[in-house]
This record gives sequence, C-alpha cells and structure tokens, in this order.
Amino acid sequence: MIDLSHPLHEAMPVYPGDPVVEISDVDKAEWSTSKDRHVNLGRMTFGLHSGTHMDAPFHFLNDGATIDQISVSQCAGDACAVRVQGERIGRKDLIQSETIIRQTKRVILNTGWFHRWGDNDYFTAHPVLTKEAAEFLRDSGAILVGIDTPSVDHSPFEAHLVLLGAGIVIVENLTNLDALPPSPFEFAALPLAIKGRDASPVRAVAWR
Ligand SMILES: [Zn+2]
Repeated sequence: MIDLSHPLHEAMPVYPGDPVVEISDVDKAEWSTSKDRHVNLGRMTFGLHSGTHMDAPFHFLNDGATIDQISVSQCAGDACAVRVQGERIGRKDLIQSETIIRQTKRVILNTGWFHRWGDNDYFTAHPVLTKEAAEFLRDSGAILVGIDTPSVDHSPFEAHLVLLGAGIVIVENLTNLDALPPSPFEFAALPLAIKGRDASPVRAVAWR
C-alpha cells in the first residue's frame, strides 16, 4: 500500500487563517515513580482542514452532509489518477480520461504541486480546478475528487460549490502521487466520524 498522506505534527504548515496544530503531553510514562504509574497520553488541537483531509458538503452548504454522514463506501474503492498541468485545470485536461472516470468514480488529480509542500506560496499559488472541470467531473459520475493542492479553487469557490453541491467529497493536500500504481487502482481516505462537522484529516492510501 502506498501512503498518500502528510504527517500531522506540531507547527506544521496550515491554510492561512486556520489554527496552528498543537500537540502536547497530558501525561508521560517517564514521570512514573515507584509509587505512581504514568503513561504516555497526548492531546492535540487542530483545524479540521489540517494536512491531508476530506471536505464534506457541509463545509460550504448548510444543508449538506456532515463528515460523519459520509458513507465509508464513498471514501474507498476503485480510483483513477489524471496527471494535469498548468495553473487552471479545465475540462480539456480531463476529457481524455472520461471513460476511466466513469468506471472508477474516484478521481485523483496529480498536479505535481505536492512537491511544493512547505514552500511559502504552497497555500496561495496552487493550481485550481475550473467550474467547467468540476461540472465535467460531476457529469461523469464522480463521487470523490482528490488533489495534491490545499484547495480545489480560490474564492468565489465555484469548483467547491459544484462538487460539494453534487454530494462529491473532496480530498485535499494529498502527497506522494508520483508513486501511484497505474490506473485503475484501489484508493481509501477515511475521515474521522466527527459529529456534525465540515471536514476531517484522513489517512489516504492507494494499492492495486
Ligand atoms: Zn476544500
């Protein structure tokens, strides 16, 4: 299995305006004494869009499904990868993959941007999906769209609205996409079942 996820760690890069990731010790085994047994027990605070994560429709749509309502079947199964280039991913970049998108319904867009993780402009200068490309994915029956950028688009978020509006989940900040097996392959990105919320970090993996 290939791991497509960024590790979560203290002070990791996060989307501008999101809370920083903080991890600390509640208890430590090294505090044990002959009378008193301690264990390693951590706590973490983080924005739900930290690292490799899944957006649920509720992220943009008040009446959309929340992350705990997303079926695990939607998050795992057949997938294909599409290598795309340029700053704007259009319908023309996807159309040659229409057949395999229709077959697999889970589409991983490899823009190559994951190589820029940690760069100053990672969260601001990334490639985006056009509204037309999002509509093409929706009309091709996609149920999950993954990408190696921090977001599928910028304000006014037309691609987010098209995808989430159709019940398609979005996996952002994927990494290691050059290691994907040839399409079609199996893919899984399971969110934590956080009640009533908009997103969750995922451990995204692929295998044949
Ligand atoms: Zn998003």
